[in-house]
Amino acid sequence: MNFELEEEQRMALDGWSRLVQRDIAPLAKDFKDQPFSRDAALEVMQIMAPYGVGSGWVPEEGGGVGLDFLTSGLLFEELAKVSPDVAGLAWVAEGAALKIFQNGSDAIKERYLPKLTTGEMIGCSAISEPGMGSSVREMRTLAVRDGKYFRISGEKMWTSNATVADVVTVVARTGENEFSMFLVDREEHGFKATDIGKLGLNGWPMCQVLFDDVVVPEENLLGGVGAGMREAMKGFARSRCFVSCLALGIAQAALQDAITYAKDRVQFGKPIAGHQLVQAMLAEMATDISASQLLVYRALSMLDSGKRCDVEASIAKSFTTEAAQRVTSKAIQVMGAFGLTKEFPAERHFRNARMLTIPDGTTQINQLIIGRHLTGIDAFS
Ligand SMILES: Cc1cc2nc3c(=O)[nH]c(=O)nc-3n(C[C@H](O)[C@H](O)[C@H](O)COP(=O)(O)OP(=O)(O)OC[C@H]3O[C@@H](n4cnc5c(N)ncnc54)[C@H](O)[C@@H]3O)c2cc1C
Repeated sequence: MNFELEEEQRMALDGWSRLVQRDIAPLAKDFKDQPFSRDAALEVMQIMAPYGVGSGWVPEEGGGVGLDFLTSGLLFEELAKVSPDVAGLAWVAEGAALKIFQNGSDAIKERYLPKLTTGEMIGCSAISEPGMGSSVREMRTLAVRDGKYFRISGEKMWTSNATVADVVTVVARTGENEFSMFLVDREEHGFKATDIGKLGLNGWPMCQVLFDDVVVPEENLLGGVGAGMREAMKGFARSRCFVSCLALGIAQAALQDAITYAKDRVQFGKPIAGHQLVQAMLAEMATDISASQLLVYRALSMLDSGKRCDVEASIAKSFTTEAAQRVTSKAIQVMGAFGLTKEFPAERHFRNARMLTIPDGTTQINQLIIGRHLTGIDAFS
């Protein structure tokens, strides 16, 4: 067991950290509480692409950087300290590009990957619907074969990135118990995305997406007929790790802000950082963060070694996202009433952290995965 970063990881992280502060922080600051414009989203994706954020998981043969998941996770964690919204945008785009690399025909890959891996195009993935979230097999969106084409109709919900995206990988029902994944191009085939107002992560669009008899050629099937559910499920262990990296970044920013405030704020004749119970809150926050890091890095390392890590990813995701809520709530407590105001970032960290116990398996769904492993009993059915 080695708890040290490799020299290469440390160097990548140092260079990345400087870039985030210099180039991304100024851009992201205008989109803390309003969704990215498409131009801003493209600009930030293009800044990040050479560093492998937004393109890192696609191997070099597909035009990506071919980063390992642990290094990628460290970069996302660092980015999320400054802008979890940009981190969300890049993580979802990167996931869509990887799905296309793994499942697309040569023609599809040649057409889309060069632009998706350089940030000239943005992708997203649509699975959830208004009537279905956790129970993905209950989806209603239909894709009906029509000769060499499929006609897709239905409504997807909470699709991250969709208002700024060029392409969406959409999972739809193609039979009684058969699900397939399609690549839909906004310009060529048409899909309509509308931003949904929400509690936190307001720079990162979350959208309703309508498919109104959208006609796509069969070449746009990703992974063949019937492969949609398997491919969607395969991505969950990875995406649970990366939601956790976002939560880790938010929690660390909240701890840093709380420490800075506590050293400055004087009550009872000394900085509140010198009061033992304030130190206890800071210590609990740091402990939650350290425990989260160990769980997330373990799951990422397992992904890198090609081992199945469904349970480890669920443990990491459920713990880290719940921990980020505790940490950001304590940051507000350390800062007293000022922590509740818009003058300080603590309330935004809290709202942002609150968003993350829901996507890619709610805490409860991840607990059911862990419980099934422990008991051998499937509580889903
Ligand atoms: C920030 C964010 C980004 C997202 N991005 C995307 C995206 O890009 N693409 C996409 O397709 N979707 C996306 N989603 C949607 C997300 O995947 C769903 O919200 C999630 O799967 C939960 O579904 P739901 O919200 O419909 O809740 P529901 O499934 O209705 O669950 C409601 C409550 O019931 C509980 N529950 C449900 N079933 C069980 C059970 N069997 N046992 C115990 N408790 C249960 C849940 O834990 C939850 O507390 C995103 C969501 C968020 C918040």
